[in-house]
Amino acid sequence: MDLKFVNEEISSHSGYGAGPGVVISREYECPCGAGRVIYEKDDIPGFRDSGTFCKCKECDGKYNFGDGTATEK
Ligand SMILES: [Zn+2]
Repeated sequence: MDLKFVNEEISSHSGYGAGPGVVISREYECPCGAGRVIYEKDDIPGFRDSGTFCKCKECDGKYNFGDGTATEK
């Protein structure tokens, strides 16, 4: 399912010695609507990573999350 988009924040990051980059953080409503799902993407030279965190305990146990999507476990 697609999650409801709430907010996006882009913050600059001084980097890890290979130049500056940005950290993108997108916030979505969790499937039950009580919590939030945060998708974070580091776009920094030499350091690229992304991850999704669900702040709702119930949904965290039920779904696997991607960038704006939830899949039942
Ligand atoms: Zn939830």
